[in-house]
Amino acid sequence: MATIKTIGILTSGGDAPGMNAAIRAVTRAAIYNGFRVMGIKRGYYGLVYNEIGEFDTKSVSNIIQQGGTILKTARCKEFTTVEGRRAAYENMCRHQIDALVVIGGDGSLSGARIFAEEYNIAIVGLPGTIDNDLGGTDSTIGYDTALNTIVEAVDKIRDTATSHERLFFVEVMGHMAGYLALNGAIASGAEAAIIPEMETEIDQLADLVSRGFRKSKNSAIVLVAENPETGGAMGLAERVRREFPEYDARVTILGHLQRGGSPTAADRILASRMGAQAITALIEGQRNVMIGIRNGELVYTPFAQATKHKCKLDATAIEIVKMLSI
Ligand code: ATP
Repeated sequence: MATIKTIGILTSGGDAPGMNAAIRAVTRAAIYNGFRVMGIKRGYYGLVYNEIGEFDTKSVSNIIQQGGTILKTARCKEFTTVEGRRAAYENMCRHQIDALVVIGGDGSLSGARIFAEEYNIAIVGLPGTIDNDLGGTDSTIGYDTALNTIVEAVDKIRDTATSHERLFFVEVMGHMAGYLALNGAIASGAEAAIIPEMETEIDQLADLVSRGFRKSKNSAIVLVAENPETGGAMGLAERVRREFPEYDARVTILGHLQRGGSPTAADRILASRMGAQAITALIEGQRNVMIGIRNGELVYTPFAQATKHKCKLDATAIEIVKMLSI
């Protein structure tokens, strides 16, 4: 493979707090090591439609504290086609981009794997998603911030739930992975978490909920991972209202609130370390790997493994929610 001189950077899929910190780290580390950097707008869309411009150190000034992504992000159908990826490759050649750093989730890194294999390109990925649903890393960029946003919201909902003696279903993101719901429940002292990894029957739910009303608290909060098939929190609340009319069940859907906001210190540090490591990886000759963190150490995981991850939640965490909500 030819020597790398120019590195392109893009953010793709759902935005996540800390993406800007990652863009800054990749750009600065690349320039520090003598590379030219090209910023690609709107994820793969900008690569296909040539929305590409040079970045210098000032392009990423004053962004570490900002949520969202200054490069914008998008979902790009064209890139899933052979013709779309050919156009993307031609634009890379036009700008003499020899390597890419892709910041995104499962889909973005799957696209990166296919593109890298098709055109023999050096690509390094960073896990940028609030869902924490990638293999090869204990945490993804944005997860910690989203978790803190959820906890802050649930603390507020708890005040009104207690005052009115109500049962609240709080819907959070993560329909394929229950990390946000489960750890959000632990951190906010919720009575239960309904997660995609575990089937919860209605009678089980009633039992969990009744705990909240039995103990000194006269309310209950259940965190529910979004689920288009069951209707998520809304679907559950309807069932509870039908089958257990004694509960005054209410629903709050946190929605896109969870994606926004200034990244936590933990996410800024993670994004900065991973971003700098992406450049080290390219210098070391690593190709088609995602940078992850395992027990505090930065590690490389091939895209295929990072995206094949089937979520395996810690069983003790599930037990903790149950045990601590008696
Ligand atoms: P999030 O986890 O936040 O949803 P994501 O990266 O998983 O982020 P996706 O919408 O799944 O988001 O993927 C982002 C983009 O990656 C897609 O719009 C598409 O351009 C590209 N992509 C996804 N899967 C493929 C694939 N199999 N082949 C080529 N490109 C793909």
